Amino acid sequence: MVRRNAQPSPEPTEWRTLSPDDPEAFPKAVVFDLDYTLWDLWIDTHVNPPLRRQGDEINRLVDRRGSTLEFYPEVPGILAGLKRRGITIGVASRTSAIDLANEALSLLLVPAPDGKVVKARSYFDAIEIYPSSKIKHFREIHKRTKIAYEQMLFFDDESRNHDTETLGVTMQLIRDGMNRAEWERGLALWRKRRGIRVSGSADSN
Ligand SMILES: [Mg+2]
Repeated sequence: MVRRNAQPSPEPTEWRTLSPDDPEAFPKAVVFDLDYTLWDLWIDTHVNPPLRRQGDEINRLVDRRGSTLEFYPEVPGILAGLKRRGITIGVASRTSAIDLANEALSLLLVPAPDGKVVKARSYFDAIEIYPSSKIKHFREIHKRTKIAYEQMLFFDDESRNHDTETLGVTMQLIRDGMNRAEWERGLALWRKRRGIRVSGSADSN
């Protein structure tokens, strides 16, 4: 896949080494696309409302035709890990199925770090869902959270959304949905651009 946008900043000239638990070794905000990033479908064409959840079933919704909607299996654990570190979590989606996407996030249940079960939506501090260049989504997230673009790491499956990097965001292009390997790749890319090395081996989740 061709990168159409040049990196906004050159290789760092100065590096600093941080301990694996230093909060500065992590971005302050992590933002996710929805379709083919958090779940394996296009919500505007593959899902027929209404969505329903059976009782308190975790990470599974069913639509009118019996098709399922769920996060990729490692997503709940990734969200919990980010929350545990106090990292702001956002959504940036261009889908036209705005209400349905919001409903899915409100209905989906995921395990919380304390062992309880919570609505997926409660993990997200900023939710921007509407058709537009994602530059707009990130401007809104920045306005709401006051977090610098350089402190944002973005996971998305579409190369065109690399345009967000003109703002200073780091985007990790993902291939087969969000998982821990993609998290590690994205984190490594963000650290490289920030000139951050981490000492020793670390549990970065
Ligand atoms: Mg997508």
